Parts: sequence; C-alpha cells; structure tokens
Amino acid sequence: MRIATITNWAYGVTVCLTIASGIVMLMASHADNIEREAVKQRQTFDQLTEEIEIDTWMLSDLARLYAIKKEPDVLEKYQAKEAELKNIEHTLQQLKNTGASGEELALLYDGLKIVDELQDEQQAAIDGIARGEEQQAVALLFGKSYELELERAQSNIDRFRMLLDKRIIADVQAATRTSKALRTASEVMVGLTAVLFLFVMGFILKRRVLRPVVRLSDVVHRLASQDYAVEPPNFTQVDEIGDMAQAIRIFRENGLARQRLEKERDADWAIRELLARMTQRLQGCENFKDVINVAEQFAPNIAPGIAGRIYVFDRDPWQMRCVAQWLSPADDETTFHPDACWAVRRGQSHPPVNGEPDVACYHLPASQAESALCVPLIAQGEAIGLLSFQNITPENAPARAYLELMAEALGLALANQRLRDALLEKALFDPLTGLRNRHHLEDTLHTQMTQAVRNGEPLSCMMIDIDHFKSINDRFGHEAGDGVIKNVATIVQRAAHDGGLAFRYGGEEFLVLLPGAGEAEAHACAQKIYNGVHGLSLRYGLTEIGPVDVSIGIASYPEHAESDNLLRAADVALYRAKELGRSRIVSFGMLEAG
Ligand code: GH3
Ligand code: MG
Ligand code: MG
Repeated sequence: MRIATITNWAYGVTVCLTIASGIVMLMASHADNIEREAVKQRQTFDQLTEEIEIDTWMLSDLARLYAIKKEPDVLEKYQAKEAELKNIEHTLQQLKNTGASGEELALLYDGLKIVDELQDEQQAAIDGIARGEEQQAVALLFGKSYELELERAQSNIDRFRMLLDKRIIADVQAATRTSKALRTASEVMVGLTAVLFLFVMGFILKRRVLRPVVRLSDVVHRLASQDYAVEPPNFTQVDEIGDMAQAIRIFRENGLARQRLEKERDADWAIRELLARMTQRLQGCENFKDVINVAEQFAPNIAPGIAGRIYVFDRDPWQMRCVAQWLSPADDETTFHPDACWAVRRGQSHPPVNGEPDVACYHLPASQAESALCVPLIAQGEAIGLLSFQNITPENAPARAYLELMAEALGLALANQRLRDALLEKALFDPLTGLRNRHHLEDTLHTQMTQAVRNGEPLSCMMIDIDHFKSINDRFGHEAGDGVIKNVATIVQRAAHDGGLAFRYGGEEFLVLLPGAGEAEAHACAQKIYNGVHGLSLRYGLTEIGPVDVSIGIASYPEHAESDNLLRAADVALYRAKELGRSRIVSFGMLEAG
C-alpha cells in the first residue's frame, strides 16, 4: 500500500477516533450530570420533606400548647408556621415532575393529605377553643386518632424518603456505571489514537521511510560518483519509496549502458588504431615472412581470445596451406582442398550472419561448426588465401567489419608480396633454366667476395660453355637447343648444390661460384659437371642429338686472382680450354704453370 494511502487512512481513523472519543466524553459528562441531578433532587426532596415533618410536628405542638395555655402569641406563631408549611407544600407540588415515581408521589401526597387533615383538626380545635369548647379541643389534639394520624403522616413521609433514597441510589449507580463505561471507551479510543500515531511514526516513518531512504541515499551517493557496481535495494513495495528505488535502478541501468557503450567505443577505437597500425606495418613488409609475422602479432589483439589461422592458396598442389596461426586453434588441419571452405568458394565471409543456422565449412572440426568465421583474402577479385577464426562467442565476438578489414589488408599485403616475388623472380632468375641470371650475379659476387676477403676464405669461380652449340641449334632447331641448355643447367645446379651458387651467364654459358672452395674442390665440382654433361643422352623427338660436351674454366681467389678480377680469370681459363680444343677443364693455375 502506498505511504500516502496509509497516512490518509491513519489520519482519517485518528480524526474519527478523536471525534468518537469527544462524543463519548460528552456522554460520560452527561451521565455525571444525571448522577448529580439525581443527588440534587434527593437533597431537595430530603430537605423539603424534613421541613414538612418538622413543621407538622411543630404545628401540632403549637396547636396543643395553645389548647392548654390559650396564649394569643402561640396562636400567632401557629398561624405563621402554618403559612410557612403551605409554602413548603406548594414548593413540593412544583417538584413532582423531577423524576419522582407515581408510587413515591402517592406516598408523599398521602402524607401531605394527612398533614392537611391534621391541620384541619388543629383548626377545628382552635376554633373550638375560641367557642369555649376547650375540653373537646384538648381531647381532639391529644386523642388517640390524632396521634395515629400524626404517626401515619410521619410514616408516609419516611417511606417516601426511603423509596426516594433507593431509587436515587440506583440512578446514581447506573449513571456512575454508564459514566465509567463511557470514560473507559473514551480512554480506549484515546489509547488507540496514540497507538495509531506511534504506528505511523514508527512503522511508516522509520521502517517504510527512514530506513529505505537512508539506503537509497547511500546508493544515489555512490551512483553520483559513477560507482555503478553498487546494487540498488530491491524494494518491491508499491509506494513512493518503491517508485524511488525503481527510478534509481533505471538510472543505474542507464549508467551501466552508457558505461558499456563508452567501453565499446573505446574498444572500437583501440581496434581501429590496431588495424591502422597493422596496415602501416604491412605496407612496410619486404617479404612474405614479414607479412605473416605482422599478422601473427596483430590478429590476437584485434580479435582477443579468438584463435585463428592464415591459409594461402597454392596451385601446385591445389590446396589451402596454413602459414600462420595464433591462440591454438582446436584442430591441426594445416592444409585442405579449397572447396572445403564456403568462404573460398563464394568469395565472401562465411557464415554470412552470426549465430544463424548455416552450413559449416568442411575443413573445420565439428566442435567449431557454430563458433567459426572464415573470411577469404581477396586480391584482384581472386581468393588468394583465407583468414579462419575459431572459438567466437557472443561475449568475445568483435565486429565482423573489423575482421573483414583485417582480411582485406592482409589480402592486399599478400598479393603485393606475390607480385613483388614474381617481379623479383623475373628480374633475378632465368625463366628457361630457373638459375640466377647475370643481374643477380653482380650483387652475389660482390657479397661473396666481401665475405671471403673478410673471413680470409677462398672463393672459386667456374665458367662453363657448351661446345659447338650453334651447330646443335642449326641441326635440330632452337627448341632442341633450349632442351640441351635446360639439361646442362640441371647438372650445373645439382653439382653446385652444396654451398655453390649457379648462374646462367649468357646464351649457353653458365657460371658457378663456390664460396669456401679452393682450386682442387672447384676442379672436383667441374669434373662432376663435365662428366654429367658428357654422360647425357639427349633426344629431340625421335632424333638423337648426340654427345654434348662443355669446356670449363676455373679460377680461385686468392690463388689466381684478386678480389676484383676473379671472373675475368675464369673467363681466360675458359677461353684457353676452347683454344686447346674444347671439351675440357682448364684452371687458371694451369695457365700460370704452363
Ligand atoms: P663454341 O664451341 O666456340 O662455344 O661454339 P658455339 O657454337 O657454342 O659458340 P657460339 O658463341 O658461336 O654460339 C652460341 C650460340 O648459342 C649462338 C646462339 O644462337 C645460341 N644461343 C644463345 N642463346 C640461346 C638460347 O637461349 N637458346 C638457343 N636455342 N640458342 C641460343
Ligand atoms: Mg659461348
Ligand atoms: Mg659454346
């Protein structure tokens, strides 16, 4: 019940009780008045009847005295007393309707009648004396019947008084009882009013108002200092305090929502900043490894608590290959067929909507069917890889747009790296043989020579030239010539495999750098190449090409050349080999010796 309702009711009941108490007090007072009236009436009757009694006896005595002494002043006194008695009788007649009962009044009137008769007899005796009949007068006034009459009058008046006393006592007792009962009722009402007041004071003010208000005030104080962890009291009562508690709860919920929004906004800013930083770092990446490193560093911070992998698309074999992972994904699936991923198939994030039932990607473990997200890495409209996230829950799920932005940045970076690698390959490697080309040689020779000089180690150089190659071209065609070049390149590459670096130096010329190798090791390697080529049995279609030989010139630093003329020395040795009839190995050392 609302406090206002309780207060109004309490106020109404208090007013009613006060009015009722007042009325009852008035009634009690009225009962007191009745009691007093009855006592007063009794006094009046007592006084008058006593006077009548005294006067009757006095008149009788005066009449008797006059009958004996016949003194005129006695008669005068008698007459005066008689007038007085008449007055009293008249007064008594007036009092008849002040509550006396019929029986009482009958007794009184009987008594008064006897008094009157006695007076008549006295008057008759006085008149008889005046006529000289003194003897009769004395006999009348002192006679038996006169005496009896006198006693009867006395008896009637006594009985009247007795009845009067009885009734008055009963009336007084009844009035006293009524007054007492009414006073008790009045006291009870006053008591109830006091109890009601105390209840209102104690219950309403203390329990329903003061205590809750103190608690609410504490909560409001903490909320004002933005301490939204405070739990507002759950006052369910339907009253003003309940309304206040409800309002404070709503205020706190709004505060919490605002705080949550602010947190989300801050987290949003933090993620945007991370994304921006990641994009900057990706732009600075020089190779594929750099890109992967950046992704591994940033992804767990952009999507905290979410495990993930980066897959790249390989054409040979046709597969998605894992190149990076973070926060321990549930499975260890590092390669899968591109068709196993719906995101790769469709070129769009999958599943398209969070939490909605959808077909799961087949490369994911069953446990991740509903908590994974695959975002394809797209470059120039083509899926070149995949960002696959796992363990996404409604609590840790970042905005999908950020994951897609991350995928976009990574896709671009990977595509850039691919392009860069392709360009580099084109710039530094020979497309026919896959060996390093002449451009590569300049840098490599410089690096290797610097290293050799610094470490005081040898560095050997071999120049290999296919003998009479022009005639192969002429006899079998350019394509057959290319085949021969490729085969020789494979042998050169294989021989240089352990620590050597093979280059295609020119048309049918190759160069091998052997860091750490002196003349003898270089010669052994040249021999391997010479033998390998010599042992080749080449065909072009059904036609046998015939034997192919190479001439090889060797020079070693520091045995035969300075750091800046190693290539030249090897070339001289090769030229010498050609001069000596081709199909041989000539070391620069042999020239010096020769
Ligand atoms: P020598 O024994 O003196 O080395 O004689 P040679 O015929 O091998 O040398 P020459 O320099 O006269 O001929 C080299 C030829 O190689 C000339 C050129 O047409 C051919 N050639 C150069 N590059 C290629 C190529 O990439 N493919 C093919 N098929 N032929 C090439
Ligand atoms: Mg040549
Ligand atoms: Mg040649």
